[in-house]
Amino acid sequence: MITIDSYSFKGKKAIVRVDFNVPLDKKTLEVTDDTRIRGAVPTIKKILGDGGAVILMSHLGRPDGTPQDKYSLRHVVPAIEKNLGQKIKFAADCMGEETKKMAAGLKPGEVLLLENLRFYEEEEGKPYSLPETASEEEKKEAKARVKESQKNFVKQLASYADCYVNDAFGTAHRAHASTALIAAHFPGNSMFGYLIESELKAMDKVLKSPTKPFTAIMGGAKVSDKILIIENLLDRVDNLIIGGGMTYTFICAQGGKVGKSICETDKLELANQLLEKAKAKGVKVYLPVDAVNADAFDANANTQITPIDSTPDGWMGLDIGPKTIAKFREVILESKTILWNGPMGVFEMDKFAAGTSEIAKAIAEATQRGAFSLVGGGDSVAAVNKNHLADKISFVSTGGGAMLEYMEGKELPGIKAIRG
Ligand code: AMP
Repeated sequence: MITIDSYSFKGKKAIVRVDFNVPLDKKTLEVTDDTRIRGAVPTIKKILGDGGAVILMSHLGRPDGTPQDKYSLRHVVPAIEKNLGQKIKFAADCMGEETKKMAAGLKPGEVLLLENLRFYEEEEGKPYSLPETASEEEKKEAKARVKESQKNFVKQLASYADCYVNDAFGTAHRAHASTALIAAHFPGNSMFGYLIESELKAMDKVLKSPTKPFTAIMGGAKVSDKILIIENLLDRVDNLIIGGGMTYTFICAQGGKVGKSICETDKLELANQLLEKAKAKGVKVYLPVDAVNADAFDANANTQITPIDSTPDGWMGLDIGPKTIAKFREVILESKTILWNGPMGVFEMDKFAAGTSEIAKAIAEATQRGAFSLVGGGDSVAAVNKNHLADKISFVSTGGGAMLEYMEGKELPGIKAIRG
């Protein structure tokens, strides 16, 4: 497998899949957070620095195969130019003769951004234009049709360039034209960009060679979303900390009172099985011991702290309590490898954000003391940023779903296309 560092882009055109799916202001359509654009800069600069030209391709939002101005990547041009410190060209369509000409005329040192790939249903390979009422047969036919025309879509994208770089980790778990199919058109000339390389390095460090003790912290609303990752981690971790809404499925399964807390009653048996498996593998599981309960799912609700297994009737647990924070902090500070995915409570509401913030702080502190920390998932990353701790964490992942799937042990189509 070739690497971006060892490849010379001199005189070459590189088509680069980036993740410029950035948030835009609803009114002005200006980029409100350019983190993802900044993440792609090292790869773009390396290609330009070598004397190559860059063709950028990305999706933005979910236009479902139909061009819509609010999803146009032209809104992202100023933010890219600001981050690169140079003017870029924009092709108002990712297909078509005009774009072919623009790509052909691109000179070394120049950057061309293609319009949103998802303006074509061929990117995702899904027949969006089909009416809801279509029969199964019609659906099957339409899918086959899109898959067929997808081949030409990929071929045209590939025709613009001499080599392919995938630097969009956020979509690496999707088997789309620009992430999984295009690499086949560049045998010996496909590689990961720096961002994906660093994501893989961080995840492999945690999965394959963690310094012990290794602690995984899992939070978020539902245990059903995290079963596979927890199962995969049980063979690797020393400690498993569980927080957030999924706590209550475990507490209920153990016979505790959960009031109106979020609880997946169809997953009780599974929760107990996970606890048993952890025990059999010698993994220490830390469940919350107390909670901040609310009398309504509301930012201004009344609150009270109780032991985790005694939520009063009509109340719901929305954050971990102070005793839990102290215990989790202690475990985190003793760890040498830390993986965190999912908030400890409803951190979107200030009253229930303390648990998540304190965990973020403890992870940053452990990192300062020499631990390796990896944080992933939109909410955990948001909590890290809210507390201005991003530079105190070893690695903050840019891909929520992609990281989860990699950590579950799954093969990501965008990774496999290049790694083989
Ligand atoms: P996930 O996408 O599964 O990581 O879940 C994230 C969501 O879980 C966030 O929106 C949180 O508000 C929510 N959450 C965390 N703790 C709780 C809780 N105790 N009760 C209800 N929702 C929660």
